[in-house]
Amino acid sequence: MLCRHCQKVKSNRPRGLCWSCYYRPGVRDQYPSTSKYARRGVGDFHGRTKLAAEPTTARPGTEAKIAVLAERARLGLSLWHPLDAA
Ligand SMILES: [Zn+2]
Repeated sequence: MLCRHCQKVKSNRPRGLCWSCYYRPGVRDQYPSTSKYARRGVGDFHGRTKLAAEPTTARPGTEAKIAVLAERARLGLSLWHPLDAA
């Protein structure tokens, strides 16, 4: 496979890039990882989290509740609020 950026040399670096393109500033960011092990979606977060500003009235297991959890995860907030609907 040829380098996805310069199309001149055989790619020998991750993301289908050649050595010189991979290490040229700015180039790597234009090509998302092709590895199936790469992080996808919302990143893992460890550490202290802030409580969401508002509890949700969405009931557990509902689409609405899942949407709330996804949004909280995206914002790096605690997934659970003590006043969430039970
Ligand atoms: Zn290249």
